[in-house]
Amino acid sequence: MIKFSKHNMRIIHVKAKQLFVKTRIPGADWAVNQYVGCQHACSYCYAKFVQRWYNYGPWGSWVIAKENAPELARNYHKGLVVMSTISDPYQPVEKELELTKRVLENLDPRTRLSLLTKSDLVTRDMDLLRGLAYAEVGLTIGGFPREVEERFEPLAPSSEKRVKALNRLHNSGLKTYTFVSPIIPGLNDIDLVIQEAKEFSDFYWFEFLNLPAAGRTFRDMLRREFPGADVSREAITKEERRIRELAEKSGINVKGIVVHAKDWLR
Ligand code: SF4
Repeated sequence: MIKFSKHNMRIIHVKAKQLFVKTRIPGADWAVNQYVGCQHACSYCYAKFVQRWYNYGPWGSWVIAKENAPELARNYHKGLVVMSTISDPYQPVEKELELTKRVLENLDPRTRLSLLTKSDLVTRDMDLLRGLAYAEVGLTIGGFPREVEERFEPLAPSSEKRVKALNRLHNSGLKTYTFVSPIIPGLNDIDLVIQEAKEFSDFYWFEFLNLPAAGRTFRDMLRREFPGADVSREAITKEERRIRELAEKSGINVKGIVVHAKDWLR
């Protein structure tokens, strides 16, 4: 069944066969996506590849909602569960559908969960997350100037709101982390992200842009609109070194620095 949300999103309601899918993400065992597709419409989004299987329109204009996800969530899965990998569990449509909330309500209390989002809506579910055996909540914060953030992540809440959400989550006793991504040398202010979020982050992940996954349209936009972006091998290596130095100086706990590919703009 296809409906339109009040944000004029096309919502495709489906019944899924399964919710927990084995994942190859390092350190994780299962991936859970109650949504497929994402209203945040980030221009660099790596999950856009799923479009090849669906013909619902441009990325960000549709979302598939697995309406039976809450029932499927009852089935306990041992190991670390990651939510989500091809959507944002707190994209705006979640306010209406409350699918993520109902999944969390039904998860077995023994569940160990790692959740990543760009939305402060996650604070609504703090109590549910605290009821799990283990829950870590990450907020993606790129450290871009506001005009760049609006260009890259047009429908996601501002970084300011994300830092405030981290603060609330951390103060509630949840384990929190900052996911600094995508790093594009010349565009991010990583010092600022560390400064603003370190008090509320148990650990950090850093991830450089994965341009092959971000796609040609994004690469063309970078070239055209952001001449300050330097993604040469030298710039990436230098920035990686600088992040390590910054981390040591500021005393933050770094879980990992992900570098996907070098030299892709040459
Ligand atoms: S929030 Fe994540 S899943 Fe959603 S569009 Fe942005 S990068 Fe893609």
